[in-house]
Amino acid sequence: MVGMTFAHLLRRRGVEPVVLERMPAGFYIPRGYMLGFQGYESLEEIGIYEEVRDAGRPIAPRPDQPPVAVAVRFGALIEALMRDLPIVNDTTVSDLLRDDSGRVVGVVAEGPGGSATYEADLVVACDGMNSPTRQMAGLEAEYDQLPEASLGFISPSVADTSFSMAYMSDGGHIGMLSWHQGSAGWRSIDRVGAEAALAPGLDAIKEMWVRLLPASESAVEGLTSLDQVRYSELSLLRCPRWWVPGVVIIGDSAHFFGPETGISSGIGLGDAHALAQAIAQYPDDPDVACATYETWRGPVVRPYEAADPGRQRILIAGQVQPLPHERWPPAE
Ligand SMILES: Cc1cc2nc3c(=O)[nH]c(=O)nc-3n(C[C@H](O)[C@H](O)[C@H](O)COP(=O)(O)OP(=O)(O)OC[C@H]3O[C@@H](n4cnc5c(N)ncnc54)[C@H](O)[C@@H]3O)c2cc1C
Repeated sequence: MVGMTFAHLLRRRGVEPVVLERMPAGFYIPRGYMLGFQGYESLEEIGIYEEVRDAGRPIAPRPDQPPVAVAVRFGALIEALMRDLPIVNDTTVSDLLRDDSGRVVGVVAEGPGGSATYEADLVVACDGMNSPTRQMAGLEAEYDQLPEASLGFISPSVADTSFSMAYMSDGGHIGMLSWHQGSAGWRSIDRVGAEAALAPGLDAIKEMWVRLLPASESAVEGLTSLDQVRYSELSLLRCPRWWVPGVVIIGDSAHFFGPETGISSGIGLGDAHALAQAIAQYPDDPDVACATYETWRGPVVRPYEAADPGRQRILIAGQVQPLPHERWPPAE
């Protein structure tokens, strides 16, 4: 979503980017999704903010002001971004082109017709948390494993409220998000592995969710299979530098925040806006554009990284015992 947003914003500034995407046209993985206010400005400029907002449910609505966030079908945003945007699909970036000085001047990509080279004034890596381009460019990445794991569900039934979240006695959290077509939930648990986390069974998982977060009752009703429940172990990501000559990283390739914050994509959409504007100001000097981008964006992004509750939790899961009725999996 960050790459497509960036491409739209660049085109509005008279720059025509080549967008390379390894997945087939129209592909995305459905998920529970909350668009935070940090992303509104970028979508407004592209002309899809109202469409996405109206397709979703407001979170913390305020009179005469936009909601703090919108719970929306993930596809509503992705499909709006795909509209009217040329994308070279089924094409995977596999290497960087460099000149004699070592500066990156383009990429090599593998597509249906074989290997091809794409020369570029600037390679903008929007290729996700494990960014192959970041690695090829030699940009350092610091991963911080969260002390807890996450148990999540995705359900086709709709809850009475768009959002609910509660904290537990060990500093862990449990939450639920509901859009017009479905709901998703998450909670922190000990890092016990998927097998142990799912072992109590679907009925026990549903009972626990409703007991600890009553607002999730109608969302949980739609759970009929353990396939709708997922255990995951997440890490946070931050990168000390965001660019080297010829390559810049934005969105999840540059930073990933904890699931508690719900801000990851909104910050990425803001990155896209700032970088497009920096390029418009310095169209003939990508290095100055990148330096300007880093100067503007550091004061916005770095405090979120430093204050992420995954790093700053006062009570750390594993060091403090949860109350027995909050523990998952439950004690024998
Ligand atoms: C389960 C889940 C729930 C989430 N919920 C929220 C939420 O509620 N709110 C929120 O703000 N954020 C949420 N996030 C985070 C949010 O999804 C990300 O911040 C957002 O998707 C980042 O977008 P991106 O474009 O930077 O990266 P990605 O979405 O990771 O996109 C990277 C793209 O690069 C492509 N790619 C990768 N490698 C190559 C290559 N070598 N060549 C070509 N293409 C390549 C991939 O196919 C992909 O399309 C959630 C994440 C998860 C996993």
